[in-house]
Amino acid sequence: MNLLLLRPEDMVAPDEAVLSGRRLKHVQEVHRAAVGEHLRAGLLGGLCGSAEILTLDREHMRLRLLLDAPPPPKLPVTILLALPRPKMLKRILQTVATMGVARLVLLNSYRVEKSFWDSPWLAPDAIHEQLLLGLEQSRDTMLPEVLLEPLFKPFIEDRLPALAHNTRCLVAHPVAEEHCPVALNQPLTLAIGPEGGFIPYEVEKFEAAGFEPVHLGPRILRVETAVTALVARLFV
Ligand code: SAH
Repeated sequence: MNLLLLRPEDMVAPDEAVLSGRRLKHVQEVHRAAVGEHLRAGLLGGLCGSAEILTLDREHMRLRLLLDAPPPPKLPVTILLALPRPKMLKRILQTVATMGVARLVLLNSYRVEKSFWDSPWLAPDAIHEQLLLGLEQSRDTMLPEVLLEPLFKPFIEDRLPALAHNTRCLVAHPVAEEHCPVALNQPLTLAIGPEGGFIPYEVEKFEAAGFEPVHLGPRILRVETAVTALVARLFV
C-alpha cells in the first residue's frame, strides 16, 4: 500500500478523515507510523497529497489531509480480456488498476469455462475491492471502468465499434504473423485471449472489426503476464 486511499465516507470534515480496519492495521504494522507523521494519501476519484496523523489508537486513526496534486494520468487503452479463472481475475484486476488501464472489458470466448461467469469475484463489490488494492499500489485515485460482456458475438458486432472508435486495435495471438509494435503511445483497444487462446472464428471476428493480430515472440505467456507485457510494451 503506497497510498492511503480514502473514500468519501471516511471524511468527517472537509480536511479530516477517520480510518479503521485494514488501512489502520497497515499503517500501524507496516509503516509503523506515529502521531505527527505524514503519509501519502488520496481521495478516491479525487486529488492526491499528504495526510498528517492527528490521533492514533488500536481502533481508529484521525488524519488531516492536504490534497492538492492530480493522480497520474490514465493510459488511453481499453483491454478486451477473455474472462480468466477467478484467481487470475483477482490479480489481473489489481494489475490493470496499477498500470493505469482506462477500461477493462471482461468478455466471453469459446474457451472460457462457463462456470467462471458464476464466480463471486465478479460481483461489483468484489471487483471494486481488487481495483482499490491496485490503485493503492500505484498511487492512483481513479478507478478504471470495468464492463462485463458475457456474449461474444453481440458485443463484437453491436457494442465494440463504438468502444473502439478512433483507436488502433490489436488482438494478441501467438500464431499471428506480425510482431506486436512497440511504444505506440496512442489510443488503443487490445484483445487478449483465454488460457486456451482465441479460436479462429473469434480472431476472424476481431479482424473483421479492424483488429490486427500480433504476436509477442515464440514464448506463450500466462494471460496475466501477457497483460503486463503488452501494456508495458505499447506505452513507454
Ligand atoms: N494455447 C493458446 C495460448 C493462449 S495464451 C494458443 O496457442 O493460442 C493466452 C492469451 O495470452 C493468448 O490468447 C494471447 O492473447 C496472449 N498471449 C500469450 N502469449 C502470447 C504471445 N507469445 N503472443 C501473443 N499473444 C500471447
